[in-house]
Amino acid sequence: MIPVLIRAAKGPISTVKPSSKAMRDNPASTVDSTSGAAPAAAMPTVRQPETRPRRPQVVIIGAGFGGLAAAYALRKAPVDITIVDKRNYHLFQPLLYQVATAGLSPAQIASPIRGILRSQRNATVLMGKVSSIDKAAKLVVAAGAPPVHYDYLVVATGARHAYFGHDEWEPFAPGLKKIEDATDIRRRILIAFEKAETETDPAERDRLLTFVVIGGGPTGVEIAGAIAELAKTALARDFRNIDPRHARIILVEAGPRILPVFPQSLSSAAQRALVRLGAEVRTGTAVTAVADDHVMVGAERIETRTVLWAAGVAASPAAKWLGAAKDKVGRVIVNADLTLPGHPEIFVIGDTAAMKDRKDQQVPGIAPAAKQAGAYAAAAIKARLKGRDHPGPFRYRHAGNLATIGRKAAVVDFGWLRLRGNPAWWLWGAAHIFFLIGFRNRLTVMLDWFWSYLTFQRGSRLITGGGPDD
Ligand SMILES: Cc1cc2nc3c(=O)[nH]c(=O)nc-3n(C[C@H](O)[C@H](O)[C@H](O)COP(=O)(O)OP(=O)(O)OC[C@H]3O[C@@H](n4cnc5c(N)ncnc54)[C@H](O)[C@@H]3O)c2cc1C
Repeated sequence: MIPVLIRAAKGPISTVKPSSKAMRDNPASTVDSTSGAAPAAAMPTVRQPETRPRRPQVVIIGAGFGGLAAAYALRKAPVDITIVDKRNYHLFQPLLYQVATAGLSPAQIASPIRGILRSQRNATVLMGKVSSIDKAAKLVVAAGAPPVHYDYLVVATGARHAYFGHDEWEPFAPGLKKIEDATDIRRRILIAFEKAETETDPAERDRLLTFVVIGGGPTGVEIAGAIAELAKTALARDFRNIDPRHARIILVEAGPRILPVFPQSLSSAAQRALVRLGAEVRTGTAVTAVADDHVMVGAERIETRTVLWAAGVAASPAAKWLGAAKDKVGRVIVNADLTLPGHPEIFVIGDTAAMKDRKDQQVPGIAPAAKQAGAYAAAAIKARLKGRDHPGPFRYRHAGNLATIGRKAAVVDFGWLRLRGNPAWWLWGAAHIFFLIGFRNRLTVMLDWFWSYLTFQRGSRLITGGGPDD
């Protein structure tokens, strides 16, 4: 029989055996053998009798922006929280592109989840990759951890990149979602310059010095701008046989303009800033093929060895775990209070939920939306525990959009205030430092940016993983 993880009030983790009915109803409580995980029964667990009254168990899957906001909002609630994540760190995705373009190192944008929740006495962290949820038995099954029982469940497992049905493009056009993606992209970019330095065939050298970024949203614009800066400034004097300033950086957007969520004036300003940096912008043409040595943009063939994907996202497989209806990008269809239809004890939030705003429009997949949803789910749980009225439907408040193109070039749209250029860039920097988690990360990012500002250098130009020695 498999031990199920339940926490006693303020006490250590204990394990209890599920009833035979729960086991019968709960085929998923055996760990998925296809996941390669050890059977849950083999997991080291602490067996302790429960001596204190059991408090409501809140399980939060995902320690991203939404999950952490929910845990934080429940810090004083009379509940025991278990936060399950497949990674041991929270990742600040908005600055991933800086790792991918050698501006920052991974540890500057990630913080250990245990460290973040160290002083939150009612929270326990469990590292494990969730593979199924048993709604009948109220169990979360994660590879590498015992099944966890919940009274309330918050699913906040985010999204990943998607290729619009062209998964075969992925090996040639990596997307940016994880630290590993960022260091892989950094390696591809820096290796291209290294290979070009020794390449004798001019056509191949040009191919190596051509970088194509697909997707003209904030991530694509930020990556294209950062590669252009890297080539034109940081690398400019480091090679002897090539001139990195001649590198071509091409940003491709299928829609009529880049940064479509911004007003036309700011999206045009961003495009002009990219062109000033030496990048080329192609709008209104979709990519139709991606291969090892070229990209087809409409009928045009662009010879390149480095293609980066910043175009599409798909939600995590939470809809599959929950057996729930999903929209076309896999987001779980939720009620207005972010609960799963028919399951008031299950909340699905952030990038993994099809959350709607007051006008019934899809809430954008951005960090503030996930944070607001996490705080809302926590408020709803607290209200129910007190027997109070539900807080009403989730109301998303959009604060604004920010994107940077490069040094002294950014766009900011708060609705009531629109900025571009230098002031927008300083505001963008201040906002990102403010929202980073951890004093050390804030300080080191600030110092690194200041150093780059003064010297035009990028400190993290390391080629790691997959190099010639591997
Ligand atoms: C490159 C990039 C740049 C971005 N830039 C911005 C920006 O500038 N501004 C902005 O507001 N937003 C930005 N976003 C979007 C923003 O990061 C997301 O909207 C936000 O992270 C969503 O929060 P979340 O809590 O839903 O999911 P996430 O923050 O993605 O967290 C999901 C968590 O779930 C965990 N998880 C996933 N699957 C499992 C599993 N099976 N088992 C256990 N744990 C699991 C993950 O490890 C992760 O910790 C960017 C995103 C990317 C990828």
